Amino acid sequence: MPKSAPSPVPSQGPSPEATGTLARRGLMFIMSSPSGAGKTTISRMLLEHDPHICISVSVTTRPPRPGEVDGKDYHFVSQAEFDRMVGEEEFLEWAQVFGHCYGTPKAQVKAGLKEGLDYLFDIDWQGTQQLYQKLERDVVRVFLLPPSIDELRRRLTGRGTDSPEVIAGRMERARSEISHWDGYDYVVVNDDIRTCFEKVTKILEAERMRRARQTGLIGFVRELMRPDENS
Ligand code: ADP
Ligand code: 5GP
Repeated sequence: MPKSAPSPVPSQGPSPEATGTLARRGLMFIMSSPSGAGKTTISRMLLEHDPHICISVSVTTRPPRPGEVDGKDYHFVSQAEFDRMVGEEEFLEWAQVFGHCYGTPKAQVKAGLKEGLDYLFDIDWQGTQQLYQKLERDVVRVFLLPPSIDELRRRLTGRGTDSPEVIAGRMERARSEISHWDGYDYVVVNDDIRTCFEKVTKILEAERMRRARQTGLIGFVRELMRPDENS
């Protein structure tokens, strides 16, 4: 997945002009789900099909899975480096998940939002709560549910990335993760992948049009309301 760096770097997302005719503040599009429900898959589809959103690359102490690329899927760091980043307040939020630390680097996201860039976050409910507390008006929270617990198990097994012990741990945690469904603005059941993707896309489109995000509206409306010199 295309992701951003943990330290301040020039933003690589779309220009504000590309996202519409009126200036707009960016949004933070959070997708959470129990592990295996499909948020990575839906995130990838979104990033492929929508040039106006980029992903916030998390920092983690978890070792890379086969095929994962440092700087793209995650920034893989040691525990000592993670602790240093916590100490220097370099995270917007961080949490422990499955025994490893995960955090959202602060610098690029804050600057990007002002420029009208949208960011996608694949983070858990703890991170979602922290981001909502800090940046409530920028946050859109989407929770994906599997169609059934059996299907969740099938997906975790079929993904082929985790050992049976790890899968058992993820299944054990699934119920407690699902219990946080009501901390989200939208809940989508990921049964058919295409239908789920369409629903998520519609949520993103509608959220972009919220009046409060359209910072260019004030000038635009003022112009519309100017007395007509030709009448
Ligand atoms: P998560 O990121 O939530 O842990 P993934 O996106 O990795 O989940 O999906 C877990 C597995 O389920 C992957 O192998 C993926 O291809 C598959 N999958 C995702 N969504 C669906 C779906 N709607 N129907 C069938 N398989 C799916
Ligand atoms: P995985 O190890 O399967 O990639 O991710 C495990 C869990 O950590 C997932 O629920 C994922 O959403 C969550 N996660 C990934 N990055 C972050 C992050 O930066 N912050 C938080 N709070 N959770 C994260």
